[in-house]
Amino acid sequence: MKYEPPALAGDEELVMDCHSHGRHPAYFSSTDNQDDRHDVKMALVIGNCDRSNPSVAARLCAKGLFEETKRVPQAWYQAVWAAEAK
Ligand SMILES: [Zn+2]
Repeated sequence: MKYEPPALAGDEELVMDCHSHGRHPAYFSSTDNQDDRHDVKMALVIGNCDRSNPSVAARLCAKGLFEETKRVPQAWYQAVWAAEAK
């Protein structure tokens, strides 16, 4: 999917970039690697959105260096799962 991130005002900084893989699992694709290669931010992907317990992947992006978290905080899962249950 192609999209343009929203423009930031002069004093705003991008901290977290979040997107969904719909029904597909959460992971960082080659497209994600291309999109994130110039940024400094946290990136979050939510997948398996058709399930009651969607998958989540997160990483730190630093201008082409990617450090994926081995374990997403449980509270983040609970936030996603709670949203699904509503
Ligand atoms: Zn992606």
